[in-house]
Amino acid sequence: MTNIISRLIDSLGEDIVFTGDTLQQRATSYWDNSPTTALALLKPRTTAQVSQALSICHEFEQAVVTHGGLTGCVEGAVAAPDEVIISLERMKAIEEIEPQGGTATVQAGVILEVLQNAVAEQGLLFPLDLGARGSCTIGGNVATNAGGINVLRYGMMRNLVLGLEAVTADGTVISSMNHMLKNNAGYDTKQIFIGSEGTLGIVTRVVLKLSPQPISCNSALVAMDDFGKVTDFLRTLQRDLAGTLSAYEVMWQEYYHGVTVEGAHRPPLSRDYPFYVMIEAEGADMEADEARFTRVLETAFEQEVIVDAVIPQSEAERRALWDIRENFEAILSQDLPAYVYDVSLPIKDMQGYTDAVMRGVKQNWPEGTCCILGHVADGNLHLFMNPGVTQDLHGESDTIVYAPLQEVHGSISAEHGIGTEKVNWLASSRSEEDIAMMRLLKKTLDPGNLLNPGRVLGV
Ligand SMILES: Cc1cc2nc3c(=O)[nH]c(=O)nc-3n(C[C@H](O)[C@H](O)[C@H](O)COP(=O)(O)OP(=O)(O)OC[C@H]3O[C@@H](n4cnc5c(N)ncnc54)[C@H](O)[C@@H]3O)c2cc1C
Repeated sequence: MTNIISRLIDSLGEDIVFTGDTLQQRATSYWDNSPTTALALLKPRTTAQVSQALSICHEFEQAVVTHGGLTGCVEGAVAAPDEVIISLERMKAIEEIEPQGGTATVQAGVILEVLQNAVAEQGLLFPLDLGARGSCTIGGNVATNAGGINVLRYGMMRNLVLGLEAVTADGTVISSMNHMLKNNAGYDTKQIFIGSEGTLGIVTRVVLKLSPQPISCNSALVAMDDFGKVTDFLRTLQRDLAGTLSAYEVMWQEYYHGVTVEGAHRPPLSRDYPFYVMIEAEGADMEADEARFTRVLETAFEQEVIVDAVIPQSEAERRALWDIRENFEAILSQDLPAYVYDVSLPIKDMQGYTDAVMRGVKQNWPEGTCCILGHVADGNLHLFMNPGVTQDLHGESDTIVYAPLQEVHGSISAEHGIGTEKVNWLASSRSEEDIAMMRLLKKTLDPGNLLNPGRVLGV
């Protein structure tokens, strides 16, 4: 047993510090079932214990990686064998839901879906929503500045955090648990931690902004034959649904084919259309909202903007439509590698960009596929690249996806972050001066490079 482990056990207790079997039984991440390798796993219950753990790690110059729900897509939480893991999984208290001001105060380990359900019981909505809702944590959502399916209406995590508490590398607790919408008393320090992917501090508690629970919810899965119509229809909905549009999730044909194969989802619409869009609008008037939603769809039919549609008649039917968009396991082969991308670019450049990527796949990988879906209203596309061979062609895949992206000045990450996976491409999306500023921040808050080292900025 190394010195630091005994110090951690002496200080925190054996019920907080785990080694050996517990690590062996823990999967590396959502994407990788192999056992976790790390020096130790700490499961603190309080901010004070996180602070204590970090001050000991600081004293020993010990690298630390933070674990939320392990659903991150860029290998940011994958521990190296010589790192200590601090998992927030026991810090899952919902401390307060305050309906008058519309806030929730939570510990960072709360699972997103648990919070969504708890506030719904009080007639409130926490609008961040994503496919990993049942596993991802609020702390992970803050650390990655998560986006998801409702960004076009409610914004990203950055827009939903009023205050937070974080512990920096030497164990200092920085408390900025603001509950007000407005607070211009000095720098907005919480923003430094949002989207910093655990490299500047461990987020331990968060104050979140809530909205009223919508009264009506109207959904449809529609098919379209042309990408120009996909973007025109988005503008029409934004105008004609009077601000109630909350989701506009586009699936390209290859994606729809991939997830509606035998044994996966049943296809509710023919598999022949080039584009499928999951649309949702939430409002305050059941009858008027439904009438308006139906009218807009009917007009789109008459004008041949949409060529087919299905409107769910029950919550179960609605959920089944969303499953097509959110449960994409069928396109991830067990035997072949798949590379997942999360790019953003101007909506006007999307058609040319996706055509260029498809051309790149055809030219380089005769057996390869590229399945695309996206939060198109946010300028955000996810690409699942499969080279069709067992050989690892991640580097080649990066070039196929990122070279045309650079031509339209897009970003290599819209919402997943950089982690370790995209470190080598950071400079293609951020200026030298920008990166220098990030390094300065890192050096100031974590001079020993102990928190999530190697993530985001590389060394
Ligand atoms: C099926 C599926 C669908 C997804 N859909 C979306 C989507 O639509 N939009 C989207 O944005 N993302 C999406 N994701 C990615 C992922 O769910 C998000 O990045 C999520 O915010 C990660 O939360 P987590 O708790 O799992 O964090 P983890 O994966 O555990 O960690 C992610 C990063 O944050 C750091 N971290 C975690 N907790 C803390 C903390 N308390 N303090 C400091 N650092 C911390 C980790 O070290 C790591 O670098 C999806 C993932 C899956 C599997």
